[in-house]
Amino acid sequence: MSGTVLVTGGSGYIAGYTIRQLIAEGWTVRTTVRSMTREAELRGLLSVDNTRLSFHEADLENDAGWAEAVAGCTHVAHIASPFPGGGVRDPQDLIRPARDGVLRALRFAHDAGVRRFVMTSSSAAIAYGHVPDREIYTEADWTNPDYPGTPAYTQSKTIAERAARDWIKAEGRGYDGTKMEFCTVNPVMVCGPVMSADYSTSVMLIEKILSGSLGGAPDFGFGVVDVRDVADIHVRALLADNMAGERLIASGPFLKIVEIAHILKERLGPQGRKIATRKIPDFLIRFAALFSPTVAQVTGELGKTRNMDASHARDVLGWVPRPVEETLVDCARSLIEHGIVRVN
Ligand code: NAP
Repeated sequence: MSGTVLVTGGSGYIAGYTIRQLIAEGWTVRTTVRSMTREAELRGLLSVDNTRLSFHEADLENDAGWAEAVAGCTHVAHIASPFPGGGVRDPQDLIRPARDGVLRALRFAHDAGVRRFVMTSSSAAIAYGHVPDREIYTEADWTNPDYPGTPAYTQSKTIAERAARDWIKAEGRGYDGTKMEFCTVNPVMVCGPVMSADYSTSVMLIEKILSGSLGGAPDFGFGVVDVRDVADIHVRALLADNMAGERLIASGPFLKIVEIAHILKERLGPQGRKIATRKIPDFLIRFAALFSPTVAQVTGELGKTRNMDASHARDVLGWVPRPVEETLVDCARSLIEHGIVRVN
């Protein structure tokens, strides 16, 4: 089955691959962008059957354009949410668009008669602020956004997913299978090939490892998953039966920076010559955090391992991510091909 689906945030990394897969599988796609001036450039990058893709101007922070964007859609993949690279001055600058944006998209989707609404949440809404930390996190876990030092992005994803689930419950829709069904996809750090030099924050770490600008390997890491597999889990979640209320972790293995650096150095040959694999002591990272809000965001992660159990997505959707080595190498090669990282 395929229908007409609204993908929010068509300029984004995950949205781009999701749009490609949806169109390849016969869907008609409508997508939102903050400015229509990006339409021609994005059509060029996506390079899909243009007759089945339309662009609509809509911002997460106001109502203009949403009714038109979602009109005639049976499904929504709500992927747009702010994901900045550095720290932010006021956490509300992220929390407000993330939370109000999903509530706005839900309201307009419901009014338009949408049957299935898939929200891109995050492992950020699952695995942080736990005391003590767990060995492995599942869909039953929720981040405590009030835990001291929780980054604004982590807060924004947790608060937005909570708000969306509360809205669905309060409106009495989504859990009885007869009205709009709501579920979330919760990915870990998303990497893989980039389509252009306008890439997601999550790819910056690979860019820094490949270019050697990290100068070594701090003792922290992330679960890693491929952008093509994240697109695939969205498409599966749009289509599968009985998705109401589901929460689906999209994760490959948890890797420390030093492991990512070794995988890339071994597989890239001369292209990996700038990659540094020596460990950076924790005290140096803590010192650097005094001067950099971006580094300050990761000091709480030093020494930690956050494994995510993705078996539920495999069981209910048959979703199996590709080997993480392929994800990392394809990501690195695309950064080189697009001239983002110079390796000579
Ligand atoms: P991305 O490339 O930065 O995409 C973010 C998208 O959200 C862009 O299209 C951006 O539009 C849009 N957006 C941001 N603020 C907006 C606003 N106020 N109004 C309308 N659109 C707005 O990031 P991504 O990696 O594809 O992330 C997509 C989603 O996946 C996000 O919800 C993110 O939290 C989630 N996620 C990502 C990862 C990851 O590692 N990448 C992991 C877990 C979850 P502009 O181009 O106009 O800025």
